[in-house]
Amino acid sequence: MHQIEKITKSYHTGGFKQKALDNVTFNLRDNEFVSILGHSGSGKTTLLNIIGGLDRYDSGDIIINGISTKNYKDKDWDSYRNHSVGFVFQSYNLIPHQSVLSNVELALTISGISAKLRKQKAIKALEEVGLKDHINKQPNHLSGGQMQRVAIARALVNEPDILLADEPTGALDTQTSLQIMNLLKNVAKKRLVVMVTHNAELAHQYSNRIIELQDGKVISDTHPLAIEENKNSKHESMGKSSMSFLTALSLSFNNLNAKKARTFLTAFAGSIGIIGIALILSLSTGVNNYIDNVQEETMSAYPITIEQESVDFSQLMSARRAETSTKETEDTDSKNENLDVIYSNNESLEQMSEFNSSFRQNNLTAFKKYLDQDDNELSNYVGKNGIVYSYAINFDLFAYDENERLINTDGSSFESVNRQPRTNFSSPSNSFNQPNTKISELLPGQGEQVISPVVKDNYHLIDGKWPEKYNEMVLVVNEANEISLSDFYEFGMLPAKDYEKILNQIENDEELLLEKKTLRFKDLRNQTFYLLPRSDYYEKNARGNYQKLTDDPLTIEKVVKEKAIPIKISGIIQPVDNAKTLTIRTPLAYTRKLRNFLMAYVNQSDIVQAQKKQPKTNVLNGLAFEAANDREKIEDVYHYLEDFTLSQQAEFIKQIQAKQQSLEPFATTEPNLADNPANIADPFNQVVKDLDDSSLLEIYDSSIAPASYDTNLKEFGVVSTENPSAISIYADDFADKEAISDAIEAYNQTVSEKEKITYSDFAGLIMSSVSEIMNVITYVLIAFVSVSLLVSSIMIGIITYISVLERTKEIGILRAIGASKRNISTVFNAETIIIGLFSGLLGIGFTYLLHTPLNNLLLHLLEEDVTVSLSFKNALILIGLSILLSFIAGLIPSKQASRKNPVEALRSE
Ligand code: ADP
Ligand code: MG
Repeated sequence: MHQIEKITKSYHTGGFKQKALDNVTFNLRDNEFVSILGHSGSGKTTLLNIIGGLDRYDSGDIIINGISTKNYKDKDWDSYRNHSVGFVFQSYNLIPHQSVLSNVELALTISGISAKLRKQKAIKALEEVGLKDHINKQPNHLSGGQMQRVAIARALVNEPDILLADEPTGALDTQTSLQIMNLLKNVAKKRLVVMVTHNAELAHQYSNRIIELQDGKVISDTHPLAIEENKNSKHESMGKSSMSFLTALSLSFNNLNAKKARTFLTAFAGSIGIIGIALILSLSTGVNNYIDNVQEETMSAYPITIEQESVDFSQLMSARRAETSTKETEDTDSKNENLDVIYSNNESLEQMSEFNSSFRQNNLTAFKKYLDQDDNELSNYVGKNGIVYSYAINFDLFAYDENERLINTDGSSFESVNRQPRTNFSSPSNSFNQPNTKISELLPGQGEQVISPVVKDNYHLIDGKWPEKYNEMVLVVNEANEISLSDFYEFGMLPAKDYEKILNQIENDEELLLEKKTLRFKDLRNQTFYLLPRSDYYEKNARGNYQKLTDDPLTIEKVVKEKAIPIKISGIIQPVDNAKTLTIRTPLAYTRKLRNFLMAYVNQSDIVQAQKKQPKTNVLNGLAFEAANDREKIEDVYHYLEDFTLSQQAEFIKQIQAKQQSLEPFATTEPNLADNPANIADPFNQVVKDLDDSSLLEIYDSSIAPASYDTNLKEFGVVSTENPSAISIYADDFADKEAISDAIEAYNQTVSEKEKITYSDFAGLIMSSVSEIMNVITYVLIAFVSVSLLVSSIMIGIITYISVLERTKEIGILRAIGASKRNISTVFNAETIIIGLFSGLLGIGFTYLLHTPLNNLLLHLLEEDVTVSLSFKNALILIGLSILLSFIAGLIPSKQASRKNPVEALRSE
């Protein structure tokens, strides 16, 4: 029994207050068919909505089965609507994207009834309204009468105490109206039916009580019910109403399914961000795998290399910077204040010092000793390719010019003309072992590799091929295909006499006009060079000692003809664009095959064999390296002088006389004695005879004592294994390489400043450029992804908002059948979750599709085989992320949906 007590309800529109219901009081029996009549605007719908718990009264009370609803909360009203009330509307209010059966089941799903029972009950309810055959149709495929029956079935399926119908026949023709009225009359047999209508005829015909409203007041009641006052305002809960998340999902899924194209586009746009992240992940996985692979390859190909001479580029640069910056600040900061004195300018000397200190000598002999110790720290990290040593061998390289003139490629053939001595940065201390500035050894590879990849990756062939045989070498040109003009001449490629002319012009300060010369590859490769090892410069003399040949051109030419090893240029190479490390510092370079050949050649030479056979005796003069006492020393000097050639004798006399002159300034000497060698023999013997002991010992100390077994071998061109020109240390992975660097650092801590080692880390150079590229790509992608994620989230929010607007009616319907506010937001959250899921799946799918073209692109761009990949786990995480993001984006619109007033929502179209 429902007691309606002094209910008032007003609407405020603008400043105007309208009383829709004004002190309405009546009681309803549990089982009767009440019609509420009244003109349009008299408050019928408002009254019905308040009885049904869809709208709230301003004052008064509704007492349901003796219980006041004054203290009802939203939850209680939801539950009341769901369990006790069934609504039927004039416009049917079916959910268009749900089947007939689903529409009817909806009320049951909110009550939390099992799926099986739900279906049974719904089918039974549809049977009762005569629609058993139409249960799987969409509502818009039914006629008006059929739709209203569905609505009635939906209202009844929960077996409510009260059925509220708001002008149920208002949109139907007379025939159908009668059918519906009959149906309602039938329903009223078992429960309370309250029907609003303005059709008085139908009301009188079918209902058993008519209440008439006018301007919100009850003006007549044909069958009022009076009851005694026994109110107990105790509140009782009526069982809960709730909607499972699955129901919300299926509601939203069907809704989205009805708008396929839009859903797809939304999901696609939403997926762009996911694609972005998925690509970054794929890429980073690919690159990590790639780096792991390359790491080993690189490590096995690119050593840490320590050269005899290294250039500290950072220091060189800072020296240059200092140079420019001091120029800039000259007339401002460093203005000298005192005008009475003059100041020294220290710049040039400071720069010279900086410049010099940027060229570092590495003491490789000491470092090799360290490496050769069994227990050295570094050896633990050396990879399978071990340590490779390069050796610089001393030899002369000759060429003939077109006039058959023999030229030493080191430029010495022109030194008599070109008075300026050639400067060289390397230390002058070991003059007999000066590195050749025109030719050097290419960094050797490990194992079978003749040439290190460090060389082959940084230089490319522009003609011919890389040297393979020992008697082949490469010519190194610069980026502009040039070599120095002086090299053209000194390699015998242009006539020597032209060069002499140029040098003379320079010396005489004449104007120098040089034309650009060119040579064809073919001619370069046809040029033959002649290599003469140091050991070939010695000949056994009559006394059984080895004697160095005089360096007059004729003698040299003869030796070259007899002994020199012909060498050809097999290819011409040039630094590649963006070369990372240029290891070749000479215009000509040979491989370790020539080095090995020469090492063997020199070792087998007569003079080296002879010296090795008698290590205590100098094969150059037959004297012991170590004299026991001064007597022996003096004897050695006499022996030494006996061996002198005529020209040596002449030179010796000159020196002695010069010395005597300096002691006795006015002593006269015979002039031009040296000009006529035939006259020297006697004076030489005389001079020797006149020498006192101290002079003889002096000669011993300056000429005989410095020679030792080791210096002799060096002089003869033997390269000792202790003295490499470069050391290449190979590691197997990055960690080991780092450990090697640390070990070198530790070694540097233990040695003096002079013996500290500086080195080049080729692998580091290579890898740093790879990771640089990767960083750039990653940053670009992250930026792209952030923007697209933001945009897609905003868009999903907007789409959800639009969806809320579109589904306002549905919100009203759901609220009318008992859905709570929370249920409504769940429905929209379900929608965003579905979109998020779909976006995620779409994004991941796209990403997998993009993998193949991306791999090709990377191969093209990086020229590296990077295989991008996305793990299953990451794919799942990304789909989760997509769901989470669109869920968050939809929170505001779904909250807004839940706040919608159900009455207004129902009224919307
Ligand atoms: P009926 O159903 O009898 O045609 P209603 O109950 O719908 O009448 O309306 C009663 C009165 O309340 C009408 O004057 C109507 O304009 C007014 N009214 C109804 N709902 C609202 C509303 N949401 N805002 C303002 N006025 C309303
Ligand atoms: Mg109305």
